[in-house]
Amino acid sequence: MSIDFKSLIKLQNTDELIIEISEIIEKNPSKINTIDSEIEASIEAATAAKQDLADNQKKRRNLEANLQDINIQIEKYKHQLNNVKTNIEYRLLLKEIDNAQNKIKVIEEQILEEMLNADEIGSKIKEAEKIAEETKRKLTIEKDSLIQENKKREEERQNLYKEKENISPLIPSNLMNLYNDLFEKNVGIALSPVTDDFCSICQIRIRPQVLNELITQKKIILCENCGRILYWKNNS
Ligand SMILES: [Zn+2]
Repeated sequence: MSIDFKSLIKLQNTDELIIEISEIIEKNPSKINTIDSEIEASIEAATAAKQDLADNQKKRRNLEANLQDINIQIEKYKHQLNNVKTNIEYRLLLKEIDNAQNKIKVIEEQILEEMLNADEIGSKIKEAEKIAEETKRKLTIEKDSLIQENKKREEERQNLYKEKENISPLIPSNLMNLYNDLFEKNVGIALSPVTDDFCSICQIRIRPQVLNELITQKKIILCENCGRILYWKNNS
């Protein structure tokens, strides 16, 4: 009696599908993580821009406080001018006032510069927030579809497992054990169809005598090169 390969081939096909689907299922979580980090990065960019604005405002407040202190000092000097006794004292005070007014000019320029910076930072914030919002919108759609895909694939995988459970009892246990061993050893491919006179997996030529035995398929024949179970394609 010849060996019936139909169930074994079905099992191999099912296993290959399971491997294929499992690869997708396993890759998706890391894709989802990448998406999460991208969303996070875009939010961080907007937060950083806001921090820049807060720093700028703090700097301006400090400069304005300095300005106020110097103005108070000038007022004091001016008041002292009324009470000086000597020309030297008078000139010294005028010099102090002059210095203080120069300082004010410098600070006023700095304030102006920081105000211009604030405008620029404001535009950056708007831009960063727009990007963050757009990134989130776009990537959330992508993420949801990956989650949905995984759910669908998982269902498919469960169905394939069930199919396997139905096929396995149809296969003689010695053949099943051999299949399982080879499946483990050969990264998921235990069976190899022979169409002309080649092992379709490792491409080695099958000897004519072996080929004859293969066509009648009365016993299990393993590929002499890769060790997989050979079957004559027309017997499938
Ligand atoms: Zn081979």
